[in-house]
Amino acid sequence: MNEHQADDLARFMGGVKRRNPGETEFHQAVHEVAMDIIPYIADKPVYKELKILERMTEPDRIVSFRVVWQDDSGAIRVNRGYRVQQNNAIGPYKGGIRFHPTVTQSVLKFLAFEQVFKNSLTSLPLGGGKGGSDFNPKGKSDLEVMRFCQAFMTELAKHIGPDTDVPAGDIGVGSREVGYMFGQYKRLANRFEGVLTGKALEFGGSRIRTEATGYGVVYMVDEMLKKHGESIDGRTCVVSGSGNVATYCAEKLIDMGGKVVTLSDSCGFIHYPNGLTHEHLHWVMDLKNRRRGRIEEFTKEFGGEYYADRSPWGIKCSLAFPCATQNEITSEDAKLLINNGCRAISEGANMPTTPEAIKVIQGCDYLLHAPSKAANAGGVAVSGLEMSQNSARLQWSREEVDDRLRTIIRGIHDQCVEFGSDANNHVDYFKGANIAGFNKVASAMMAYGV
Ligand code: GLU
Repeated sequence: MNEHQADDLARFMGGVKRRNPGETEFHQAVHEVAMDIIPYIADKPVYKELKILERMTEPDRIVSFRVVWQDDSGAIRVNRGYRVQQNNAIGPYKGGIRFHPTVTQSVLKFLAFEQVFKNSLTSLPLGGGKGGSDFNPKGKSDLEVMRFCQAFMTELAKHIGPDTDVPAGDIGVGSREVGYMFGQYKRLANRFEGVLTGKALEFGGSRIRTEATGYGVVYMVDEMLKKHGESIDGRTCVVSGSGNVATYCAEKLIDMGGKVVTLSDSCGFIHYPNGLTHEHLHWVMDLKNRRRGRIEEFTKEFGGEYYADRSPWGIKCSLAFPCATQNEITSEDAKLLINNGCRAISEGANMPTTPEAIKVIQGCDYLLHAPSKAANAGGVAVSGLEMSQNSARLQWSREEVDDRLRTIIRGIHDQCVEFGSDANNHVDYFKGANIAGFNKVASAMMAYGV
């Protein structure tokens, strides 16, 4: 980036910060994209004249609403719900719903912004959005979760539709919550239509949707390694998280010959040096989905070590998979990964690496790094395939969906290489993903006029 472009970036970010005061996660996500796009459009004046990047940072609309529900003791509880409809230039708004106490408008705006680029990369006709609430499902009974989901959907239903906006799950929203929300939508609208994805197979879900994000994260690393004539087989893998993304990432790694030695949750991580098995993963899925327990319990059942209040990045590994949450890899963690000889990072969570850590990683040519908008796009990609199946009133086989998922991830990898390679054939996957994702949305916006 030359001096002139650095000035442009500073001016641009100044405007973003003024218009979105205090929304630090959103500023971070926009900055990460603008760093690549501003130099890219420097010699393309039409993008600047039409203020395409500025327009992309401004959501089409944000709906925020009160969610009132009754807990098991009969007390009235009030939460806030949101839907950020960021950009529908290339398709209906599409993106998950997050239920977590850390949800704020800033967090959802960063996620919706990222989603626009991610969805564009899938090559499917999907715009970008995100929703959620500061509701904390932890410790709530099944009936409380049901009442909350119904109250949430009672308002959200007014703003979504199969050709308007199609939500899905994210942190705190799995098939149970999608089921309750879909049921409520169906009651209110009196229509059976593909308005949510991540549905159960019995009512319009897609095969592989549950596994898709985790599988995609692994397919991405496989593509990056293949480019160098390498493979996953025999490599030690560190995975953070223990939810849907982490467990299916671990499952696919094991299937492809990887040795997965860690999993984590917000309280700490487990280290199992012999490598997890499918049996272990089934146990963890049951622990997390049904019993809603802590990963610490794993060591009581199977052995290994538990480390409270720590993340697993200090464990020596060849491949790293942050699958927990945003900003979970700090610059200190990045240095540990590099010093331990890590070969590749594939991001399962959204924006899991801090800007300082990204800088550290970019200083190490050996370490391949796939950003979340490329690496975890498998989830939304199969959501897109679920929408296609719903429209066609069909349900495809596992093989068919998995084949398409692999092809989509390969396509994302190739776009990153096309737009992220320098003269020495070194690939900056962040730059490649940002530019490729931007191009398609920008072209559509320009075609529509102002
Ligand atoms: N929440 C997922 C993501 O971050 C999936 C979204 C979807 O399937 O719409 O991409």
